[in-house]
This record gives sequence, C-alpha cells and structure tokens, in this order.
Amino acid sequence: MGDPKGFLTTPREDWPRRRVEERVRDWNEVYVPGALLPIISKQANRCMDCGIPFCHNACPLGNLIPEWNDLVSREDWRAASERLHATNNFPEFTGRLCPAPCETGCVLAINQPAVTIKNVEVSIADRAWEEGFVPPRPPERLSGKTVAVIGSGPTGLAAAQQLTRAGHTVAVYEKDDRLGGLMRYGIPEFKMEKHHLERRLEQMRAEGTKFRTSTAIGRDVDAAGLRARYDAVVIATGATAWRELDVPGRELAGIHQAMEYLPLANRVCEGDLETSPLSAAGKHVVIVGGGDTGADCLGTAIREGAASVTQLDIYPQAGGERDEEREPWPTYPTRVYRVSAAHEEARDLRTAPYADADARMFAASTLRFTGDADGHVRELHLVGVDDRRRPVPGSERVIPADLVLLALGFSGPDRTDGLVDQLGLRLDPRGTIARDRDFATNVPGVFAAGDAARGQSLIVWAIAEGRAVAAAVDRYLTGGTRLPAPIGPDDRPMAV
Ligand SMILES: Cc1cc2nc3c(=O)[nH]c(=O)nc-3n(C[C@H](O)[C@H](O)[C@H](O)COP(=O)(O)OP(=O)(O)OC[C@H]3O[C@@H](n4cnc5c(N)ncnc54)[C@H](O)[C@@H]3O)c2cc1C
Ligand code: SF4
Repeated sequence: MGDPKGFLTTPREDWPRRRVEERVRDWNEVYVPGALLPIISKQANRCMDCGIPFCHNACPLGNLIPEWNDLVSREDWRAASERLHATNNFPEFTGRLCPAPCETGCVLAINQPAVTIKNVEVSIADRAWEEGFVPPRPPERLSGKTVAVIGSGPTGLAAAQQLTRAGHTVAVYEKDDRLGGLMRYGIPEFKMEKHHLERRLEQMRAEGTKFRTSTAIGRDVDAAGLRARYDAVVIATGATAWRELDVPGRELAGIHQAMEYLPLANRVCEGDLETSPLSAAGKHVVIVGGGDTGADCLGTAIREGAASVTQLDIYPQAGGERDEEREPWPTYPTRVYRVSAAHEEARDLRTAPYADADARMFAASTLRFTGDADGHVRELHLVGVDDRRRPVPGSERVIPADLVLLALGFSGPDRTDGLVDQLGLRLDPRGTIARDRDFATNVPGVFAAGDAARGQSLIVWAIAEGRAVAAAVDRYLTGGTRLPAPIGPDDRPMAV
C-alpha cells in the first residue's frame, strides 16, 4: 500500500451523482462524468492489506481486489488493468451495475465504511479503454473446433470471448435485433450507457467472434440441426419467463410487465422510436414489486414525465443497517433499506403523493384493479400486510393507477421458442436447465450457463458462469483446458 494508514486518514468518498433536476431531463448515466478519477487513487489506498481479503471471496469472479487497489494507489493503471482483466472480461459492466457483494465483505466494513471497490473497478476499466490497454486479443492458432453460443447476454458474451481466445471458432446466436441480453433492453441507459456494450462487441468481433442477430434458435433455426452443425453448443438464453399477478382486473388495458415496458424505453434511447407506446408521460404509475427491476421502472417513468409514481413492496421496510444475527458480515445483506438513484430522484421530486418519501409503499399487497368504461385500468386497490403477509384489517386503500408495471421477478427460462423441447433438455425442479458438475446438460455436447441454468441472478454471476462454462467446453473439445473456472454450477453467494 502506498500509505498503510490510508484507511485511518481518508474517509470513504463515492462517485458523486449529477443533480437530480438535471439528470432526470436526460437518459445519460447518473454520475458526474470525470469526477471519479481525481479521488480514486486515495480511495484505493484505503484498502488496508488485511491479510485475508474476504472481498476477493465475496466476488463470484474472484477479482484480485487488493492487488489492483495497490496498483491504483500507485497510479500504475496498465498493471491494474491486466490484473483486473485476468479475472473479469467486462469490468466496465460490473463496475457500473454490480451490487458489489465485495464491499459488504470488505474487512474495513466491519466497523467503517468499506473501500469503494466497485468505483476502483470502473475507473480501471474506463482508464484502460482510454489508454488503449485493452486491444483485441485474437488467438494465435485455431483449434478447428466450432461452438455455437445461444444468447448474447453477459453469460453468452463471456463464454464466447473465452472460447474465441482459446482458438475455437465461435458464433453467437441472438433472437433480439441487438446484442447484449438484459444489458441491452432491460437495464436502462441511465444505469449503463450502451456505448460501453458496443465497444466490447467491437473488440469481440475483431477477435473473431461471429454474431447472428434476429435468429431465435428453436423458432428460426432448428435446435437439433444446430447441434449437429457445431462441435459444442452453449445455451445462455437467460431466465425471462416473468411472474404474473393473478388478481381481479389483471386483464384491463394499461397493466404491463416490466420487461414489456423497459425494452420500449431502451428502444427510444437506441433511436428506434420517437416515444414509447407505453410511455408514462402524464400518467399515475404504480409499480408492483420492490426489487431492482421495479427501481429501473421508477427511474424510467420519472424520466418519461409521469404524473406520479408509486412502488409497492410486499415486504416490511428494512432497517438501515444489516441484521447481524441473520445476515452477519461478510455475507451480502439482502434486507437493508437501500436508496437507489431512482429512489433518490423520487424523493427529491416528490413523485409519490400516496407513498413514503421515496415512492415506496412497504408491506402493501395488491387486491385488485378497477377500470373505466373503456376497459382501461384507473385504480389499484391494496391492503397492508403483516410480516407473514396476512392482511391487516382496516388498512385497505385505493390509489390512482393509469399505468401499472409488474416487476415480480422471473420464474425460469422462456420456453416459447421450442429450444428446450427440440433438444430434449432435462429441466431441474425449479424449471431451469439441468446440468452436471461440468455444466453439461443431458444432451451430449450441449452445455448450459447463466440465468437459464442458475435462475435469475446478477451480471457478475453471469460473467463467472460464462467463464466457467467456457473452461468446461474447452476441456470437452480438447481433453484439457487452461481457461479459468471461477465458480462451479452449484456455487451460491456466501450465506450463514
Ligand atoms: C430490468 C433488469 C435490470 C437488471 N439490473 C441488473 C443490475 O443492475 N445489475 C446486475 O448485476 N444484474 C441486473 N439484472 C440481472 C442481470 O441482467 C441478469 O442476471 C443477466 O443479464 C443474466 O445474463 P444471461 O446472459 O444469463 O441472460 P440474459 O441477459 O437474459 O441474456 C439471454 C439472451 O438470450 C437470448 N435468447 C433467449 N432465447 C433465445 C433463443 N431461443 N435463441 C437465441 N437467443 C435467445 C435473449 O434474447 C437474451 O439476449 C437485471 C435484470 C433485469 C430484468
Ligand atoms: S464484480 Fe462486483 S463483486 Fe466483483 S469486485 Fe466488481 S463490484 Fe465487487
């Protein structure tokens, strides 16, 4: 460490966000451009060389955090980039989007604010691109083996990049018209501007990965025929079968799934549409679901100019600190009251006259919707619930709702394309694609990774899955591998 007492002398400082009034008028990332670089070396120097870096274990990629903290504190950006890219194909994605379980596992976090690991990561990644430290790395020699990767989310992209660099000829098939999976049409621009994605895709093309968009395997191309044409197939199709809300009035117009709404807003940012056909402009919006997808809907509805936005969460409001009994350090606490950028916007702009300060209404369960004579939703009826989700008598309320967005999570892979049935893939009891310890499905030469097999997860896990499945495929094709496998198929986040 440059200064071994850095953690005693330097307080934690985060990447400042732009003013709320300014940022809700555009779709750009919420952070102040360029504001991180001047502070980041001192922040990296807060890493206290603790000896047993729990942060490293808490990161599914096994990112070498203390090593790159040290290099950044010494301003050796090239070496930091090499160490970072040794374990992470896409640190500019995780540096922006990861919930950073590494930081809740940081030893400093036991009694002080953690090191700003995620900010250090994104600084290294952005600096690496600016300085040209990440040129394409095409393989020196081709293996003569071919691999089809189905799905271009973070799992498919990481697998494809690893396998291409190992010398295999890789084609990625994507049913959408653009590449990136949920990073393209789910995650809003204000969380990650899509030029970061484009830049990586250009790098991958230059390395030799081939991409075929607008091609749904199972619908446009027979899955069994595809298997016969390639030496191996990786299924990385995600888990986008959404959960429904089965209450009276669900059939009314104006009630949509989050993943019907968010892609249209993303298409406006891509320049495909002038305005979204589901735009929240002028409407009273209610988001059903208290998770991150709901928060993405919140930030989007605010930018579209909603008249009001309320987010319903069936869980009671969590406390501001981790519950040391149930979720002790160094685990990632799931039940903590977190204020995302979108919640900050809702709070400052007072978008939710019917809810708490930052648009959230806790311990609230939807009873039914009622509509107008044209069959369009106009009201949402709700009831307060206790911590066992039992209705609290007398707590019924009615709030205006012209646009309702359902953000209730995902149950497993979307099976409408026919891919699973055409290949005869076995599913596990959760409805995700079953695989063995080598990421292999029951069909020889067919592997499964990412949300499609793990269930709904995070980008950091998706990249780790992509890297691990690539190692398994390489071993299957060549009898051995030097590719790293950061996780096994059954690994899960650290828990008590
Ligand atoms: C709205 C939203 C916001 C999120 N925000 C975050 C966040 O901020 N941070 C975070 O860490 N995680 C976030 N997540 C979760 C994260 O995006 C996923 O865990 C991750 O994208 C999973 O990666 P994947 O590659 O396995 O699947 P996906 O990203 O879902 O990609 C699968 C791809 O396969 C394609 N496909 C499916 N079937 C076929 C077929 N038959 N033929 C061809 N292509 C096919 C799909 O079109 C898609 O492009 C968010 C999720 C959602 C829904
Ligand atoms: S990928 Fe996530 S967990 Fe890993 S170092 Fe980056 S922010 Fe931390």
